[in-house]
Amino acid sequence: MARIVMKFGGTSVADVTRVRNAAERVRAEAAAGHQVAVAVSAMAGVTNQLVDYVDQAAKISDLREYDVVVSAGEQVTAGLMAIALQETGVAARSWLGWQVPVHTNDAHGSARIESIGVEQIIQRMEDGQVAIVAGFQGVSPDGRITTLGRGGTDTSAVALAAALGAERCDIYTDVDGVYTSDPRIVAKARKLDRVTYEEMLELASLGAKVLQTRSVELAMKHGVRVQVLSSFENSPGTLVVDEDEIVEKAIVSGIAYSRDEAKITLRQVPDRPGVAAAIFGPLAQAHINVDMIVQNVSTERESTDLTFTVGKAEFDRAVKVIEKNCAHLDYEELSGDRNVVKISVIGVGMRSHAGVAQQMFTALAGKGINIQVISTSEIKISVLVAEEYTELAVRALHSAYGLDAD
Ligand code: ADP
Ligand code: ASP
Ligand code: MG
Repeated sequence: MARIVMKFGGTSVADVTRVRNAAERVRAEAAAGHQVAVAVSAMAGVTNQLVDYVDQAAKISDLREYDVVVSAGEQVTAGLMAIALQETGVAARSWLGWQVPVHTNDAHGSARIESIGVEQIIQRMEDGQVAIVAGFQGVSPDGRITTLGRGGTDTSAVALAAALGAERCDIYTDVDGVYTSDPRIVAKARKLDRVTYEEMLELASLGAKVLQTRSVELAMKHGVRVQVLSSFENSPGTLVVDEDEIVEKAIVSGIAYSRDEAKITLRQVPDRPGVAAAIFGPLAQAHINVDMIVQNVSTERESTDLTFTVGKAEFDRAVKVIEKNCAHLDYEELSGDRNVVKISVIGVGMRSHAGVAQQMFTALAGKGINIQVISTSEIKISVLVAEEYTELAVRALHSAYGLDAD
């Protein structure tokens, strides 16, 4: 007998029939003698609808109230899942974030889980009850509802698994595992039987939406055994594991893309000490994350062109911050481009192999795709290209690294 956590994403609970289907999977695990806790997302599309209501109500709204509204979808699913389980004869009870309680900090809209009080839930589980926890939500130190950022039910599930000391955390979704690239745009993508925490962390943070980045961070920190699998098929999924559990390490194991970035270029900024600090300081103060940066120095003019990327949602704010704080730098022009995509190749094998970047640049050049910005780390290389090339570039790289399924 084991203690397990099961998570069902939006498409897996998109209507009452699917809730029943998910409940059947939970019933089977409970019938096998396991103690089960379930984390549920809102029905597909519901959170988007709630976000839209907030946007319609005010241009900029109080994030505490945003959280009250957008967390509502998970309450519905938690109750429905408990009802569906009771209908099949399984004792089940729903828990909202504050009832558990899932304690978070007060960063409304993207709060971090600080601790989970699992005593009551454990007691109920030991008494044979299945605990259905509303994902994506928690409670702040002053007792307000918080949400964990989009896709946050993955993080609720992994945090719950860590707090419960669960044997595994099964993430049920609409694909049957983690693939070498998004199977929706790369038809030849292959399912990975195993992926390392580190690679999964890079894949997630570089755009693969299959797991929320923070859920992977937490799983890695607490050694939670995460499995990604389908709610609709009965095939084995993908296990997220330590590097030493993978015998044959691929040089490149996955390709991710993110359309969430926008590019800003400052032309002819004076080339002297302190200039980068003068630009990036005010952005940091405004809590705007800068991702890729490239600088071209021109020796004749003693000036430099500086290009960097920020989140698309932060683009307007970033431009305003620069216009307000950097006028004294006498740069010639500020230009921006939202039609860009960041494409990344990821693999732990890169640490010990040369030529991976070269292969990427050659493959993109072969398709006539211009690279605008490059950034690298130990196990990934990212490039920024025009958004219209997303599919072409991802597919070309997938083939170039030999990842295509037969
Ligand atoms: P859920 O609602 O279950 O949380 P998500 O939509 O958040 O599901 O995540 C699953 C989706 O992630 C898939 O439908 C797929 O399009 C996308 N995805 C992106 N990259 C990958 C990848 N490398 N492997 C699998 N799925 C991926
Ligand atoms: N319902 C939330 C969202 O759509 C959380 C989740 O599904 O994980 O972002
Ligand atoms: Mg998700």
